Amino acid sequence: VKTIGVLTSGGDAPGMNAAIRAVVRTGISNGLKVKGIRRGYAGLLEEDIIDMNNLSVSDIIQTGGTILYTARCLEFKKKEYQKKAADICRKHGIDGIVVIGGDGSFNGASRLSEQGINTIGVPGTIDLDIACTEYTIGFDTAINTAMEAIDKLRDTSESHERCSVVEVMGRTAGHIALWTGIASGAEYILTTEKYHGDIQRIITKIQDRRKLGKKNHIIVNAEGVGNSAEMAKIIEVATGVETRATILGHIQRGGNPTCKDRVFASAMGTMAVELLCEGKSNRVVGYKEGEFVDFDIQEALSMSKDLDPYLFHITHKLTTR
Ligand code: ADP
Repeated sequence: VKTIGVLTSGGDAPGMNAAIRAVVRTGISNGLKVKGIRRGYAGLLEEDIIDMNNLSVSDIIQTGGTILYTARCLEFKKKEYQKKAADICRKHGIDGIVVIGGDGSFNGASRLSEQGINTIGVPGTIDLDIACTEYTIGFDTAINTAMEAIDKLRDTSESHERCSVVEVMGRTAGHIALWTGIASGAEYILTTEKYHGDIQRIITKIQDRRKLGKKNHIIVNAEGVGNSAEMAKIIEVATGVETRATILGHIQRGGNPTCKDRVFASAMGTMAVELLCEGKSNRVVGYKEGEFVDFDIQEALSMSKDLDPYLFHITHKLTTR
């Protein structure tokens, strides 16, 4: 391997820049040339490729977003475009690529590997919804951002004796909801994995707690569960407690990465380059049981993971009447 490329793909996540920096600096320190591919697979197909050096990644470890931009590229699911991308890589002398993104992006990396370009995936998503790893870049920052926002909502909910339905991100996964719900002392945590539309239980709980003198109620709702505004309306009508819905949205994707996200992203970026230097391809970096490890991409994509069962268990203990 003489020249490697790095790209970010799918949704952005805080810490991606730390990973890019690690890829560039490890590559250069291992004697490789490093090119940045902007806007994911879309940019690769458009040859939006830039030379990178140590200076191009200075002062970025602390920033959110991705300096390489990110995009979705539906065309890349077609073989003809995967072939074209591999030809473009060869034209630019790129014989290995680090892909920072989620499962969709790893699928693309695997296809590119079939076309003769060595690829290594690095898990970057705030949602934590990548089965082969207990850590994904951006999750730690996102949950801290959401937790701080919920703390603020609680202050005003308490002053006005309201109920707050707070919708957090996570697509169809409830990890962000579970963590931020526990951390902010939510009364109810709704996740797609565990919630089956039993809104009456929430209503009864709010009514019972009101009787005990509770003045505010926080319900954390995962993105995939459904319409938070509608839920707020149903709760308000049934309980008589003024209820507001707040959708935290994309603020959860931005901001300066936490210390953990910077350090783990740095480690994963470095490991990805080391794997390329060993001649490996079609692998994805993960973190499991206290260690940085790597898996075959197909094997990684076939794995599944549920919400942490013990964290789910404690929610019942900590949010009961
Ligand atoms: P994420 O990587 O966060 O899961 P997406 O699912 O949007 O995000 O995937 C990002 C990009 O990866 C897509 O826009 C597409 O270019 C590429 N991709 C996704 N699935 C495939 C696939 N089955 N084959 C090839 N490329 C894919």
